[in-house]
Amino acid sequence: MINIYNPVFVNISSFSIIDLIIITIFFLSVGSFCSSVIFRLTPDSPLPLSKIRSSCPACLKKIDVINLIPLLGFMIQSGKCKFCNSNISKFYPFTEIFFLLIGILLTTNYGIGLSAIVYTLIIFCFYVLFFLDYKYLYLPVYINLLIVSIGITFNAKYQLFIDETFLILGIKPIFFSLYGLFFGYSSLWLINFMFKVIKKKDGIGGGDFILFGGIGAIHGPIALPVILFIGSFLGCLYFIFSKKADNTELPFGSFLILSSFIYFVLNLMNFSFIN
Ligand SMILES: [Zn+2]
Repeated sequence: MINIYNPVFVNISSFSIIDLIIITIFFLSVGSFCSSVIFRLTPDSPLPLSKIRSSCPACLKKIDVINLIPLLGFMIQSGKCKFCNSNISKFYPFTEIFFLLIGILLTTNYGIGLSAIVYTLIIFCFYVLFFLDYKYLYLPVYINLLIVSIGITFNAKYQLFIDETFLILGIKPIFFSLYGLFFGYSSLWLINFMFKVIKKKDGIGGGDFILFGGIGAIHGPIALPVILFIGSFLGCLYFIFSKKADNTELPFGSFLILSSFIYFVLNLMNFSFIN
């Protein structure tokens, strides 16, 4: 059975050159698409998500097809728009390289298959939300709902994130996700409710409730206390060490995303160690 905690470990030398080229182009393109989604979803973006062709964020001139090629486009233009000469954000090549590394990690751990594809999708959503929340405290509801549906679909149909200990309890796979969604959403809602009673204002954003529900739909209810604990711990560290965090709101969603990723890696190491 395919399971995310059951990696198959493929040696990179077993891929053909064609495979490697396709993997490289695919993941660089995912990165390129991801940074343009982030740019278009920022609250003050001049470009809507629905506009297909990419434009320079500064002068809004359409970018030539050749310059749209991930990494290469950035290098050809030496990091500047050829129309208005303004600097192209290094965030674009950074994101493209990030996804290339993720691609190498996933395909060497899982081969080219369901686990790698689903986790790429999850990383994609997490990456978008992480930066939007960190910079703008904004968690778009449709990306949150995408995470919820990925969790429910792939756990109900393939039990992708469900480890054996949960199945021993005799609970149906779909309830793994539904309980996770319910407890994730309602736990943060409840914390916020109590905060509101005492402080007369919201302590946690509504986007965080759905995001934590989505994380629950992927990782199940038992993972939630651990993820919440690590996320809060990271939030505290940020609060103590960041100058930006003086009195403003914390990007709590970003910390939940980081901690669910940490949880995943720890769990993966744990299972690889046992098996
Ligand atoms: Zn320009």
